[in-house]
Amino acid sequence: MRVIMLFRNLFCECLALITIASGRVRRAQGRALNSLNVTPIYFHNPNKRLFTKCIRWLKTHGYAFISAEDLIEIVHGRQTPPKRAVWLSFDDGARDLLTSVVPVVRRYRVPVTLFIPSGIIAGDGLFPWLHDNGSEQTRSDIRDALTLLELKQVAQYQEISVGSHTVSHSVTPNLTDEQLLFELEESKRALELWTGRDVRCFAYPVGQVDGRERTVLASLGYSLGATTEASFIAHSTDPYLLPRFCVGDNIPFPEAICCMTGVWRPVINPFIRLFRCICAIPVLTSLRGYLVREREFQSVWRTTIGN
Ligand SMILES: [Zn+2]
Repeated sequence: MRVIMLFRNLFCECLALITIASGRVRRAQGRALNSLNVTPIYFHNPNKRLFTKCIRWLKTHGYAFISAEDLIEIVHGRQTPPKRAVWLSFDDGARDLLTSVVPVVRRYRVPVTLFIPSGIIAGDGLFPWLHDNGSEQTRSDIRDALTLLELKQVAQYQEISVGSHTVSHSVTPNLTDEQLLFELEESKRALELWTGRDVRCFAYPVGQVDGRERTVLASLGYSLGATTEASFIAHSTDPYLLPRFCVGDNIPFPEAICCMTGVWRPVINPFIRLFRCICAIPVLTSLRGYLVREREFQSVWRTTIGN
């Protein structure tokens, strides 16, 4: 199945290089320079080589890294963003961040926000979406997420701030009002206890929102909510519905450049729609069923659609 990832990356790299050569990235950079928009970028678990290249590229092209604290002031109208402001965040608290991201952000002094599902960190450290076959053997000897001790250690670094990603990575529209309050309140309480710092940022798991979250977030003292909508943060953006551009974990660097400059979604979305149409052809039912069951295909698909 790795062939699928190789094919996907080869295709996306060619498409990204064509996009860059067409001048779209250069024009997007020009717009970023001449506006007061913030470029919000989020990752899940990038490899060190890709992440380092991204940081170097952003630095070389004059982007100004801002922290979550700066972003809160900006989205609430109390501060003007610097030109080419960029805010980096990471969802889920993958354990590999310890070696792939933390040394890089410390070396380059880049502020980042880690969105943490507190119950997974305090519990078995397994991401449910990677273990949906319920294999008990797998469950006993690995962790996907940081340990509590590791989170406490990285939260002490001045480059790193911590935000909530619920307790159990629950998709908030699926929750009752009581469950929603628990997930937002308990995760904030636990993260503040562990880090000794205020937790004012929240990221919606898989980016889904149904509108009830804002009141609860505001009443609990959160100052912003981050979605997965691919767009820039402008002066008029709702602080509780902040968009972010996704950069996939193991994608080719030219594709990452297109993602970071906000030109990738309009380029790749027609191909995603085409793929969906092909999979909807009745004669391909068995192929579709096979792909849906394959975990590596699911990973490739999540990387491509940006969730
Ligand atoms: Zn997540």
